[in-house]
Amino acid sequence: MQIEKLEVPSPPTAEPEVQWREPPTIRRLEESVTNRIAAGEVVQRPSSVVKELVENSLDAGATSISVVVKDGGLKLIQVSDNGHGIRYEDLPILCERHTTSKLTSFEDLQTIKSMGFRGEALASMTYVGHVTVMTITDGQLHGYRVSYRDGVMEHEPKPCAAVKGTQIMVENLFYNMLARRKALQNASDDYPKIVDLISRFAIYHTNVSFTCRKHGANKADVSTVIAASRLDAIKMVYGMPIARDLMEIGASDNNPTRSVFEMDGFISSANYMAKKTTMVLFINDRLVECTPLKRAIEVAYSATLTKASKPFVFMSIRVPSEHVDVNVHPTKREVSLLNQESLVNTIQDAIESKLMSSNNTRTFHTQAVTSTAVSHLGVKKDTQAFSTVTKSQKLPINKMVRTDSRDPSGRLHAYLQDRPGSQNEKKPDLASVRNAIRLRRNPKEASDLTSIQELVRDIDSNVHPGLLDIVNNCTYVGLADEIFALLQHNTHLYLVNVVNVSKELMYQQVIRRFGNFNAIQLSEPAPLLELLMIALKEEDLDSASDENDAFRKKISEMNTDLLMKKAELLDEYFSIHIDEQQNLTRLPVVLDQHTPDMDHVPEFLLSLGNDVVWTSEKECFQTIAAAIGDFYAIQPPVLPNPSGNGIQFYKNSKRDAGTNAAIELKMPENVSDTDIDGELLAEAETAWAQREWTIQHVLFPSMRLFLKPPNAMAKNGTFVQVTSLDKLYKIFERC
Ligand code: ADP
Ligand code: MG
Repeated sequence: MQIEKLEVPSPPTAEPEVQWREPPTIRRLEESVTNRIAAGEVVQRPSSVVKELVENSLDAGATSISVVVKDGGLKLIQVSDNGHGIRYEDLPILCERHTTSKLTSFEDLQTIKSMGFRGEALASMTYVGHVTVMTITDGQLHGYRVSYRDGVMEHEPKPCAAVKGTQIMVENLFYNMLARRKALQNASDDYPKIVDLISRFAIYHTNVSFTCRKHGANKADVSTVIAASRLDAIKMVYGMPIARDLMEIGASDNNPTRSVFEMDGFISSANYMAKKTTMVLFINDRLVECTPLKRAIEVAYSATLTKASKPFVFMSIRVPSEHVDVNVHPTKREVSLLNQESLVNTIQDAIESKLMSSNNTRTFHTQAVTSTAVSHLGVKKDTQAFSTVTKSQKLPINKMVRTDSRDPSGRLHAYLQDRPGSQNEKKPDLASVRNAIRLRRNPKEASDLTSIQELVRDIDSNVHPGLLDIVNNCTYVGLADEIFALLQHNTHLYLVNVVNVSKELMYQQVIRRFGNFNAIQLSEPAPLLELLMIALKEEDLDSASDENDAFRKKISEMNTDLLMKKAELLDEYFSIHIDEQQNLTRLPVVLDQHTPDMDHVPEFLLSLGNDVVWTSEKECFQTIAAAIGDFYAIQPPVLPNPSGNGIQFYKNSKRDAGTNAAIELKMPENVSDTDIDGELLAEAETAWAQREWTIQHVLFPSMRLFLKPPNAMAKNGTFVQVTSLDKLYKIFERC
């Protein structure tokens, strides 16, 4: 969240009464207290201990590092290396704060090559755990073993047998920080994080062999040998299925007024499917995170690829060492870069063009190769990628939609499932990729029909320049309530009506993608007649009786006939496919990664029947696009929001009986007033969380790229500049 950037006006309330009291005395904290506070910062969790220890081993020039972990790291973390070891004379001060062999003056920081430099890691560990060091330097007959507490040696170093290098054990982590230990014990074990961390180091440091295992386990969870290439290392760590879907990537810039860097790495191709982004980033040899870069890459993927997948990215960036500030984070996890924005943009562009060109290549190979061809990795990447073309697709997002209050299990969502091998899968990707490129580069080419060209022109000529600037350059802050999201643009905050904005965006996308849609295949054909009946019943809630059924049936039949007559047009231009048996079978992809809420299919069909002007070409396309826009808009889910007052809805109370038959069905007579309907609540929570995710990760990035906000939005309450303090406070409460 970007909130901290904002200037918050002080509340206009009357001055609160200040009671005068003696100022408290300022005292110097005991060193042991400050040390422990600092330690808590550097050593946040077991995986941060592992990171520091492994970095020390790397700094010591180790070519073999092994990690053993017990009880998620709370009982034991042991890191052994074959590095240069630690001098006997240095052992007494090894674990004091700010003792390091890597830095002498502040200026050294500018050119520092080692991972460590603060001389705090080992010290910190001794304040929150029991540290034992075993080490031997070259040419010694024996090594030394010594334990530390609170920065100091517990005893003189004892001679011991040792193999080359250093072994550091950290036991009983956070034994003296009960809250932290409890929190970690309750949370899931840190071991997966540790495995993830070692995996990342292992694919970068191809000249070092790594192992990582649980204490007592025979089998290591990460085990690498020195690798011939980066791709081999990735294959060893992440496995062949990931390695074969990777493409090499590079980018650089050498313009001091813009940015100076070199980047190389691997990124996943369109074949790769994952729900979460894996981003392994090294900047000047440091394992770091860079959120803006990660986001930019995710946007490049969602804007370029038609299928919803998060990328796998390995990237190594080199910048002049004076361009990077490594000292912005106590655990050195984030770094700050000079000209970060320009660097991020250049990399984003490189990834986009790589994805686009590789998509073309891939399609070419579809026809050319057979699935049996398996050769050495890297030689025929594309061939291998295609041997897995039938791997299971990610299911669409709304798996838990309620369709109608009388049907608790959700009747319609079952229709919406991407099936591998369905017609839309068979469609060559080339066309869709070309479209994506063309649409992004030059929307006007989208169709040759003059009516569509006019509609595109209408959109372009009706843009509000001020709003366009806001849309293109805003930062998404968060949701303010069920309808409004909060955006920051320069120093202003805006509330934006998500429903209106998404409706308009979808409309514009339909016009731009006209005739060129990818399709969402419904897993089961959805009968028009039945859906139209549902829609009519919903419109007509007052007359709950069935007496109007005959009349509704008549209207449904008429509408079905009409849609059957228009089926060809709907299919050809909008990818709305209706089969011979009067079933809806396909819907268009209007925005990549977004599927409409299937609760609204009945309404949508009714609106196609009722609201579309079929007589004039331009109006016809416009009204169909508007109907699709309404349907695909990001509405609040049908179930009330369980956070806040909405929770009332989920109490199994008799009050609800009659207003919602679905609840009634699930509600035995004798439950108490405050029982919560857990299943329904979970369903609602998922729907709302999903929506929030979509707004942030799909709607807003796409809006930035594609939306041309019409003039009307400046006046109709779609964009509201936040001036009222009331609203501000409400929002801050939420954040
Ligand atoms: P920093 O890495 O910032 O210097 P640390 O507290 O992590 O601080 O380590 C302190 C010093 O201990 C290092 O500068 C290094 O000289 C020594 N050291 C720590 N771990 C090892 C190791 N595995 N092998 C050799 N020397 C080590
Ligand atoms: Mg260190």
